[in-house]
Amino acid sequence: MNIDLHCHSTASDGLLKPEELVARAAANGVEILALTDHDGVSGLAEARTKAESQGVRFVDGVEISVTWEGSTVHIVGLQIDPEDPVLRSGLESIREGRATRAEKMGEALAAAGVPDSFAGAKTYAENPSLISRSHFARHLVKTGLAPDVKSVFQRYLVKGKPGFVPHQWASLGDAVSWIRASGGIAVVAHPGRYNFSKPELHAFLAEFRDCGGAGIEVVTGSHSPEQYFEFARIAREFGFTASRGSDYHGKGESRADLGTLPQLPYDLKPVWHDW
Ligand code: AMP
Ligand code: MN
Ligand code: MN
Ligand code: MN
Repeated sequence: MNIDLHCHSTASDGLLKPEELVARAAANGVEILALTDHDGVSGLAEARTKAESQGVRFVDGVEISVTWEGSTVHIVGLQIDPEDPVLRSGLESIREGRATRAEKMGEALAAAGVPDSFAGAKTYAENPSLISRSHFARHLVKTGLAPDVKSVFQRYLVKGKPGFVPHQWASLGDAVSWIRASGGIAVVAHPGRYNFSKPELHAFLAEFRDCGGAGIEVVTGSHSPEQYFEFARIAREFGFTASRGSDYHGKGESRADLGTLPQLPYDLKPVWHDW
């Protein structure tokens, strides 16, 4: 089975509309697809309708921004109920924080000699309630500040650079409980991307498990092939189910296209084992 359980549409920082994303997934042979936009569920209905017309099995998802011990981590929720009031109000509180943060990013960049970036970023955010660093990055590339999104992140938008504004996202416990309250499964997104020491990673995963977290992404567009093995080992050690997802955002911005990554190592219990 070709299963892709992590991607983004214009409802957050992806480049394709939900229905365009589903059409691309179908063309790539994806049989089960989850849309996991950042901190919101507004793209799910359109994606589901398109998936039904294309014979793709659709899974409601979300990717929640979390602050754990001062670091930003992402928790994916799968098989959530997008109508659940607890989940919805939690996600709404994160989106409110994003708006304030984006204004501060604009001010920080202006102080560094880059004017009008908040207004510029807004023109790239199709969902006005979900403005992300990706929208700033696209605007800054367009103004000629850097040749591509990757380098603009490195020069301006990561910790220690002029446009970076520290931000407090949801707590790990809240994010996992919102997902579970809505009937969903909580999965750690791209665990290899966090700059944790080994003890920190273990403490983080143990706390995630204690909160009711169930899975981790093993095969993701953010991992190298060596990291597939590393996180397969960790999934076994912690008794987590394993997930596979491209984290596709759009052409030119993602390492992996929808449904094109390798399969999970055969002995792992996939997050979809009882779907
Ligand atoms: P935000 O949630 O607003 O902090 O934005 C995070 C998003 O920015 C991620 O989901 C990625 O899509 C993108 N991103 C983060 N770091 C990088 C990077 N180094 N290069 C390109 N895109 C990045
Ligand atoms: Mn993103
Ligand atoms: Mn992420
Ligand atoms: Mn993602």
